[in-house]
Amino acid sequence: MSFVVAIDGPAGTGKGTITKILAERENLLNIDTGAMYRCVALECLNKNISSKEEDKIKEVLENIDIKLEIIDGNKKVFLNGKDVSSEIRTPEVDDVVAVFAALKCVRDKMTPIQRKIGEGKDVIMEGRDIGTVVFPDADVKIYLDCSLEERAKRRYDQNKEKGIDESYEEVLASIIERHKLETEREIAPLVKADDATLVDTTNMTIEEVVNYIEKIINKKRMK
Ligand code: C5P
Repeated sequence: MSFVVAIDGPAGTGKGTITKILAERENLLNIDTGAMYRCVALECLNKNISSKEEDKIKEVLENIDIKLEIIDGNKKVFLNGKDVSSEIRTPEVDDVVAVFAALKCVRDKMTPIQRKIGEGKDVIMEGRDIGTVVFPDADVKIYLDCSLEERAKRRYDQNKEKGIDESYEEVLASIIERHKLETEREIAPLVKADDATLVDTTNMTIEEVVNYIEKIINKKRMK
């Protein structure tokens, strides 16, 4: 028996942090699908491949090896054997990832991998299309939302902590651009599944959001 929790929503809603805490507390395997799209974007950036060069992207996809691991309680991402956990979260990757993630060849490769990782296990998977495309029959579906300004503020604060020098205005512009690309793309757009629970995190603390979702998970598990 497997138990799948799908956490979808745009960037800056606290998805990563919330999913990590819930995974630990509820003993669920934590799968960050955004990290996988970030690896594709990073590999293409490193090889100077643009989103228009489909043949070259397909070649990258054929040879790509992505591993998501938890080491000493921290999420680690390995791309072709190299730890790229920090490299995939730079403003450079932020700026291009949504364009690569919108491509059919990229999604055709990633979606089955994500299903395979989750198959037969108890997982909490975060992304944009988990409850709509990857696991439409997920046991629990959550859609996290938040105002654009608050999302930009959170990302700005995170960047500052990491020593990334980007102004609030730049972060906001990047978030708006990414939001547009994600919600307007043809394949697997960011949209709340009809049967997902909407959680607006704008005025909630991480702890409040975690407790709220945990109650939903436990109620479902007891059934
Ligand atoms: O969640 P995160 O911001 O790390 O995701 C990076 C990018 O990957 C998103 O901007 C989105 O374009 C893409 N993505 C996606 N589908 C998912 C997860 C992420 O298209 N399931």
